[in-house]
Amino acid sequence: MVEADIEDFTGCSIGYVERTNLSFIDVPGQIATVVFVRGCSIRCPDCHNCELQSFDETRKTTVDEVVSKLNELELSQWICFQGGEPLDQADFVRAIIEKLKPSFKVCIYSGYNMELVKRKHKALLELPNVRMVKAGKFLLKKRIYDKFLATTNQRVILKHQIDSNENKIQWDELDWINNSKEFIEDQVNKSCYEEKKN
Ligand code: SF4
Repeated sequence: MVEADIEDFTGCSIGYVERTNLSFIDVPGQIATVVFVRGCSIRCPDCHNCELQSFDETRKTTVDEVVSKLNELELSQWICFQGGEPLDQADFVRAIIEKLKPSFKVCIYSGYNMELVKRKHKALLELPNVRMVKAGKFLLKKRIYDKFLATTNQRVILKHQIDSNENKIQWDELDWINNSKEFIEDQVNKSCYEEKKN
């Protein structure tokens, strides 16, 4: 297996994807198709996807190949990028999102902390269909067992529409720890609004 240098990915239309899976748990209360990208430079001590950490050359694929498969999906309304580390291939992921059918909502799981994600990936977060981000390392001792796949150090933000007439949206932080499963699902559901075309 050949490992690639993550520096090579800037502006790239080629990236690494291991597989896609249908999921009922990764986006609370929603059916999602999870895109497991391959390769991660973070190396969380409790990584739950160690087999996806290497940038395996055999899993190289193009933006168009991924998009053509995703755009044929009918069951899921959400596409959830995780891995691996989607933001180690941010340009690749962004190019995919830009070509998705507008009806898809997008969730991104990252092992980087939320401040870094907001600072370094502002343009990605501003894409209209990016609605949810979960960020932070996966730490087993902080695992939440009674709700969703998360650890208490991780933070979740959701895009909500605050004025549908003016198309005003804002990112809200979701209290993943102190709220009920039902409340969390309700908040995620509110981020499924349809964007109004100007
Ligand atoms: S960010 Fe995800 S894939 Fe990367 S080391 Fe952490 S848990 Fe594993």
